[in-house]
Amino acid sequence: MELDFWRGPSYVDRPVDVMIPPQLNHTFDKIFEDKLLQRTVLIEDLENDLIEDRAARPSLKPKPQRQDIVERHFDEYQRLPKIHSFLDTIVSKNTGIASVETIGTSYEGRPIKIIRIGDGNEKKNKPIIFIESGIHAREWISPATTQCFGQYLVQGYKARNSDITALLQKFDFYILPVLNPDGYEHTHTRDRMWRKTRKPYGNCMGADPNRNFGYQWGGQGASTNPCSETYRGPSAFSEPETKAVSDYVLRNKDRIKAYLAVHSYGQYFLYPWGWTNTLTPDDKHLVNWAYGSAHIKYSYTVELRDTGSYGFALPKSHIRPVCEETTVAFIAFAKELAKEV
Ligand SMILES: [Zn+2]
Repeated sequence: MELDFWRGPSYVDRPVDVMIPPQLNHTFDKIFEDKLLQRTVLIEDLENDLIEDRAARPSLKPKPQRQDIVERHFDEYQRLPKIHSFLDTIVSKNTGIASVETIGTSYEGRPIKIIRIGDGNEKKNKPIIFIESGIHAREWISPATTQCFGQYLVQGYKARNSDITALLQKFDFYILPVLNPDGYEHTHTRDRMWRKTRKPYGNCMGADPNRNFGYQWGGQGASTNPCSETYRGPSAFSEPETKAVSDYVLRNKDRIKAYLAVHSYGQYFLYPWGWTNTLTPDDKHLVNWAYGSAHIKYSYTVELRDTGSYGFALPKSHIRPVCEETTVAFIAFAKELAKEV
């Protein structure tokens, strides 16, 4: 039986979060009783929560008068075409400081896009902060937050915010909102809790793109079973999505000074190899690759909200607050990094 662990085992005494299908409720009741395990129900009825959030009005606050497409964009978790047209809108409103590049194509043929934001100075060797999100399809808050951060950068620069101006003079920010576009669309159309890519492997679909990177491929915590949520794929970079990103990062590795991999959930920052003497937390594989193979010294995994009350089903009303708190963190990080590189 393959269970879907929302948060897998890591170290002793740290609880795991697991999604239990209704037909297994009784089995689990018995297991918990027999083993005297403690449990807390985080979400009683996931499907119901998802339906409610879909129907929820975006915000009860009165809307500002001049609400355009950019403002409304963060009322909802958007579909991929809307995300891509949002990037285009940012670029058309901010020519000279923002541009979009397609770095590859997903298995099902969707473009993988990044938005590049800087002060327009084409200085050679200008350091890049690379921010990647949307690798795990169901972590919807991740692409929403990184797009929102990009929007904050261009707005801040235009408004002559001194911190932002200094940062965009120093760095180019490359933001990849949706690394796994096929999976992301699948979570909107078929299965909200889908995590992997969508390339077929026998009777099952998809590899865990995070575990498909070439550094210590097949190491701790990666499954060889194509039906597992943590399937590593038949070979390193078997997924066109991970291949595209790794090629791009390696091509630019001399300029990329920091790599931030944005996931949910858990609310913490993880640095590479921090916990190798215990089980590797779920979302560190790519960052280990960025650090170990691309030699990007400042590589981190960022786990956004929450700590488990909603988990992957974080309501859309959280998009703006998460964006605000993450923006503060990213700006602080970039300011510190500016002293180092
Ligand atoms: Zn993740």
